[in-house]
Amino acid sequence: MAKVLKSLSLKTKKADAAADIALINQFSVKELSPEEVYCFSVAMCDNDIDRETERFTNKTLDALAPMFVGKTVISDHSWRSGNQIGRIYDTYVQRTAEQNQAGEPLRQLIGKVYMLNNEDNKAIIDAIEAGILKEVSVGVSIKSRTCSLCGEKMHINWSSWKMECEKHHVLGETYPEEGYCFLNLDDPGDAYELSFVAVPAQRNAGVTKAANDPDVDEAFDTLLSCPDLSEHRQFGELLKHMQQSSMQAVDREERKKILEENDKIIKIFEKEN
Ligand SMILES: [Zn+2]
Repeated sequence: MAKVLKSLSLKTKKADAAADIALINQFSVKELSPEEVYCFSVAMCDNDIDRETERFTNKTLDALAPMFVGKTVISDHSWRSGNQIGRIYDTYVQRTAEQNQAGEPLRQLIGKVYMLNNEDNKAIIDAIEAGILKEVSVGVSIKSRTCSLCGEKMHINWSSWKMECEKHHVLGETYPEEGYCFLNLDDPGDAYELSFVAVPAQRNAGVTKAANDPDVDEAFDTLLSCPDLSEHRQFGELLKHMQQSSMQAVDREERKKILEENDKIIKIFEKEN
């Protein structure tokens, strides 16, 4: 099950602490008064297609809503204790008047968050109110990524380097009869955190990038737009890196098969004993 991180630009609305205090106190060790908390609602994620050409389905948003209740709010995806800044005390899915890029009504998963209104949190509360924090990002686990056109699983085609499904729909392509091909993120396993991101990702050399980082997608687009890379001084390095990466993917498949075989053998063994 893969952990997925998705970001949205930050939109918050102050919530009514007096009206919500009973809900908030469900998650608090000590009984809090409305004056002791700062609370607001925030759009955590939605059903729109993002830069990675994938989106949460409506069913996924509905399933994620209860999973986020009680979960921690952190800053910059860091779980260090000082970075745990609040807690989600309520969630709901809201249908907006806008449309998403799939031509459906845009739906957002809204989280209501409380923070202690104290000196420690003053800087972050001021930053939220002043609009200095730019993004929120959710961390969730997703069991299924499927083709929007036929519902089949998608994988990388190693000869074209494109994501495609069993029926050869290619991610990001538009088909005259069937429409735009994107990935549906379905079947969430769990919701881990909501994170406030103060500093957008830096484009520094020497920073290790995750394979699903949008910057990596952009780098691939640039490389693929070059008619010939063979003369480039780093071409050899790139080729080696890609071969290693595809080997690792093959290795991972192999390891999965071996583990599944092991499981079967253990079950047979357990039955016999
Ligand atoms: Zn398909």
